[in-house]
Amino acid sequence: MRIVKGIPASSGIVTGKVFLYATQSLKAPRYNIDTDEVSEEHERFMDALSRAKDDLDILKTETELKQVANELAIIDAHIMMIGDPEFERKILAGIEMRLMNAECIIEDTIQIMVQTLEETQDEYLKERTMDLYDIQSRLIHQLMYIERASLVDISEEVVLVANNLLPSEVLTMNRDYIKGIVLDTGGKTSHTAILARAFEIPAVVGLTSITKKVTNEDRIIVDGNEGKVFVRPNRITEQEYEEKLRKWIEHEEEMLTFHSLSARTTDGHTVVLKANIEIPEEVDSSITHGAEGIGLYRSEFLFMRPGEHASEEEQFLEYAKVIKGMKDHGPVTIRTIDVGGDKVLPGVEEFDEENPILGWRAVRFCLSRPDIFKTQLRAMIRASVYGPLRIMFPMISGLEELNQVLEIVEEVKRGLFRDGIEYDHNIKLGTMIEVPAAALIADVLAKRVDFLSIGTNDLIQYTIAVDRGNEKIAYLYEPLHPGVLRMIKMIIDKGHGKNVPVGMCGEVAADPLYTCVLLGLGLDEFSMSPVGIPEVKRIIRSVSMEDATSLVDAIIELESYEEINRYVRNWMDERFEIFNY
Ligand code: PEP
Ligand code: MG
Repeated sequence: MRIVKGIPASSGIVTGKVFLYATQSLKAPRYNIDTDEVSEEHERFMDALSRAKDDLDILKTETELKQVANELAIIDAHIMMIGDPEFERKILAGIEMRLMNAECIIEDTIQIMVQTLEETQDEYLKERTMDLYDIQSRLIHQLMYIERASLVDISEEVVLVANNLLPSEVLTMNRDYIKGIVLDTGGKTSHTAILARAFEIPAVVGLTSITKKVTNEDRIIVDGNEGKVFVRPNRITEQEYEEKLRKWIEHEEEMLTFHSLSARTTDGHTVVLKANIEIPEEVDSSITHGAEGIGLYRSEFLFMRPGEHASEEEQFLEYAKVIKGMKDHGPVTIRTIDVGGDKVLPGVEEFDEENPILGWRAVRFCLSRPDIFKTQLRAMIRASVYGPLRIMFPMISGLEELNQVLEIVEEVKRGLFRDGIEYDHNIKLGTMIEVPAAALIADVLAKRVDFLSIGTNDLIQYTIAVDRGNEKIAYLYEPLHPGVLRMIKMIIDKGHGKNVPVGMCGEVAADPLYTCVLLGLGLDEFSMSPVGIPEVKRIIRSVSMEDATSLVDAIIELESYEEINRYVRNWMDERFEIFNY
């Protein structure tokens, strides 16, 4: 047995079989061929086509045995597409006419087919673009004799072990079968970790070289609460973990009983607890965990699905789904597209920057791409007819930027008005505070908006100058650093000075260790992954505002992170039994 310690990224416990995922983005070669090589290239293609068909037939038989209807329908569609004689004819003719290799002709032919589908008005047909990309990948892997390790095709329960995972890979992988995630890289607030929490998949990250310590099919225990991984566990450890899992499930069930209670301290101070979501499907989980609204809908994930262009109509439907789903459960805060940094858009090469974390991100991207930004705003504002909407802007660094963004919102509204399209005239606008310069002028920004929301994931990263996704320096990423604490206090005070409510949607809001500190600092709204809400609520309901304020008074003058951390841990341990933090 081997025990490896990493960073707990998503709570829960799971035991399973390793699926070692070698991340490889396949770049297909493109080269010219001679006329006398055409028949050889035809043969190469026909051979790959027949192997890809055989693979699909095997997959179909396996899926039939499992009786999963919707998966079977997808495989049938792929079999039909790959067996289409017209497709085969186009590739053979393309090779002959253009004298290019099969991989190149396949990519170009599929690209044309994708464009045709995207131009149709039929939503069903548009969605088939993903299937075409899938067929393309199958054929190219066969041509290059590379085994296709696809997270989409996983069809038995496994624990995914990888060096790194892109947020877009977590978004599209087969979540029915991936029961745990274990990574060499990453930090607690990397977007991959955030998505693992959203999908309630236990995860440990930042393990440095776990991919070199396991082989496929090894048994592994993932303890996402304590950040530990046990490779090839012995019998005693397995039994110990069966017991831990039983207790964890009991704890989770108890937490859900807080669902309908308000987040009110023993002396009557109430705060609002909201959910952070990444996809509309998380609305149900937000409601069952007792969210009083969505405090952060990370809309950029809508743009990260391969093969999709989120058109105005598609976005409108998604936003409307969230707003309608939350009906009577509080307002929905949609954050405008926040790409860049670790969230690159598939196929956009401009994101390849020297310093992406300080680069072309979030509103900076939006202001230089008004086409994308205005389309998104139009879709959001149109969806406001279904319920209370708040729009929030990420990475605002100064007043000029905020003014520009607010001006564009007004312009989009005027356009809708001219077009006779209805929308709610009471949409609330807010800005995130996640850049230190914005924190320092939070009072100036607060005068122009209806609410502020502190994004600690980035604010800590920029304040301490520590990459949130880099496990080597994760020890420096410290929410209780006195510099961070003072900054949060300053933002809340400045917001309140202008009568503007201040919320927090960074991961600090979800960690029970910080709940009383944030309460004592006067935070109005805590927004977090739905699963985190009940524990935070339990703590708020068993403390008084007076006590929380005295905790803050005691720590605010302390000089080092270590002193503050020790003080807060002792203070919390004396009062609460917390499962993990
Ligand atoms: C944050 O930075 O705290 C935040 C909520 O935004 P994101 O994690 O998406 O960068
Ligand atoms: Mg952020």
